[in-house]
Amino acid sequence: MKMTIDGWGNNLRFSSAHFIPDLGKCSRLHGHDYAVSIELEGEMENGILVDYGDVKKVIRKVLETYDHRVLVPTLGVRSTVNVQQEQVKVEYSGKTMSFFREDVCFIEADISSSENLASIIGSQIKKELGVYKNLSNLTLTVYEGPSQGSSVRIDLK
Ligand SMILES: [Zn+2]
Repeated sequence: MKMTIDGWGNNLRFSSAHFIPDLGKCSRLHGHDYAVSIELEGEMENGILVDYGDVKKVIRKVLETYDHRVLVPTLGVRSTVNVQQEQVKVEYSGKTMSFFREDVCFIEADISSSENLASIIGSQIKKELGVYKNLSNLTLTVYEGPSQGSSVRIDLK
């Protein structure tokens, strides 16, 4: 059995600022409204796969850490990040930006692309869904705006 939860329709969304060094206009600090949709596959138990409400709660909890923050990649090949007390200093392509620590969400990747966000958010949701032994895999899509997104399929077994 397969179930789908649409991120736009269920308000599974977050708004963040980010930048992608060396990628044209994306190298400037800018923002997106993101939405996260999920597809779950597995064996039904007592006529259901998993409660929609429980899955939405899990996704909302994970997305809260991203919402209204600046996404700063920490595995900087293209950028360097220094955390000094309550300040996060980011440098790339001759630019220096500084943010309050509490305004930042660190992304364990080289860049905060929707592809990397899908992998990271997908792994976080996988951990939370571990209690559902009847689920076999998830497909998670991070939409960067209403018409484009990146998907990842993750095995839950
Ligand atoms: Zn962008």
